Amino acid sequence: MGRSCSRTGCRQIATKTLTYIYADSVAVLGPLATFAEPHAYDLCEVHSVRMSVPRGWTVIKQEPEADHVGPSSDDLMAIADAIREAGTAPVTREENDVVVRQPIQQDLGRRGHLRAIPN
Ligand SMILES: [Zn+2]
Repeated sequence: MGRSCSRTGCRQIATKTLTYIYADSVAVLGPLATFAEPHAYDLCEVHSVRMSVPRGWTVIKQEPEADHVGPSSDDLMAIADAIREAGTAPVTREENDVVVRQPIQQDLGRRGHLRAIPN
C-alpha cells in the first residue's frame, strides 16, 4: 500500500512528493519519496499536475532516473519492426496436407454444414 495524497479531501494514492525548500523558495516535485520528510507533501497524479507554488517560487520537476523509465524510443522501434516483420511474414496454414490460402471473405458460407446467408 502506498501513501495517500496529502491534499485535504483527496484519497488518491500519492505518486509524487513535493518538497518545499523554504530557504531558496524552491519547490521540488519528484518521484514519491521513500520516507515521509518534513516539508514534503505526497501528491497524487492529479494534484501533482495541478499543484501551484507561492508567487516568486521556482518549481523543479525531477524526472525518474533513466533506468526506471520504460523502453527507450530505440527499443520501441525495434519492437515495432519485429511486429511488422511478424505481420508481413508469409502465413501458410497447412492442415491435413491442404494448404488454405482462401481469403476469409470468400470462405464464408462454405463451412461444412454451417452456411452464412449473404445480405
Ligand atoms: Zn490528490
